[in-house]
Amino acid sequence: MIKIAVMEGDGIGPEIIGGAISILESLIEAEFLYVKAGKRYFHETGLPMEENGIQKIKEADALLKGPVATPIRGKTYPSVNLRIRREFNLYANVRPFRSYKGISLREIDTVIVRENTEGLYSGIEEVKGGGEKAVASRVITRDKSERISEYAFKLAEREGRNRVTAIHKRNVLKVSDGLFLESFYRVAEGHPNIVADDAIVDAAAYKLVKVDKAFDVMVTPNLYGDILSDVAAGVVGSLGLCGSAQIGDDFAAFEPIHGTAEDIAGKGIANPLGAVIASSLMLIWLGERDPLLREKGISLRKAVDDLVDRRLALTPDLGGSSTTAEVINTLLKLVS
Ligand code: ATP
Repeated sequence: MIKIAVMEGDGIGPEIIGGAISILESLIEAEFLYVKAGKRYFHETGLPMEENGIQKIKEADALLKGPVATPIRGKTYPSVNLRIRREFNLYANVRPFRSYKGISLREIDTVIVRENTEGLYSGIEEVKGGGEKAVASRVITRDKSERISEYAFKLAEREGRNRVTAIHKRNVLKVSDGLFLESFYRVAEGHPNIVADDAIVDAAAYKLVKVDKAFDVMVTPNLYGDILSDVAAGVVGSLGLCGSAQIGDDFAAFEPIHGTAEDIAGKGIANPLGAVIASSLMLIWLGERDPLLREKGISLRKAVDDLVDRRLALTPDLGGSSTTAEVINTLLKLVS
């Protein structure tokens, strides 16, 4: 039986992950291994994650997680998200964005593939000049740039997409983004059936908002992908409508792209569809070992799209008045 580690996270995490789990339970036979982590757990125990948390996740086939807070002020702790990313070497952050009539700003059908392990997130920061100067190192390596480019081209081939665009700022960061682009075009040579081109990050942000279907697959260094993902989510119409996959060679973690949304936590109105889309991405990924799971993942995504396109049950972030539970119940009827 498939084993899925589940980290509910903070804020609206338990509500939306709870909804996603009811959908999964209706679709597949799986064992769910709950892992406690985050702000609430830290306040109760002084630990950011339960002690055998990583071990539990290692026993599972994949991880489904909600947003886990890392407080910026006050008592804080090392990021659980970063720990998982590093522990399982989840190098590809993959986020598909698809538009809905009457909800989205414009048409979009784009996958952002973001390098997840280096760039400005390399963790190398130092204070110099007695506190007067702070320096962060942005690390770009050929190895990791080629690995993420290869992932993007393979994804395009697998999904029947025909263009991969590398995002950069080479006009300023000549050496580091130069290396990223050089690596990208080298990998592109091995994929002659896919069109390879590139765009400067600021122009790409403008084009995402201004032009219908501006991009197909985008491959980016770490920070650009982070920011462009939120731009794309804005174009889709809500952070609550987008899911993501963080993928490594042997393991992957799936989560909605939004944060803890403390402003609406506990009110029963959070949009659970980002978490459901993350679950469908998980089933599709697990489908590499069992094609039936892939089929279920694809039909789950279709059910989400159908629900939103036909406005069967929408939470307030999408202009509706349905509760989280009503959205999940409607979806359960669609998938059964
Ligand atoms: P964090 O600090 O954890 O990133 P945040 O509140 O800064 O949290 P988000 O949690 O992503 O950032 O929320 C941004 C806004 O979007 C908030 O107003 C929040 O209520 C709304 N939002 C985010 N996710 C959802 C959702 N699933 N359903 C409805 N609204 C959402």
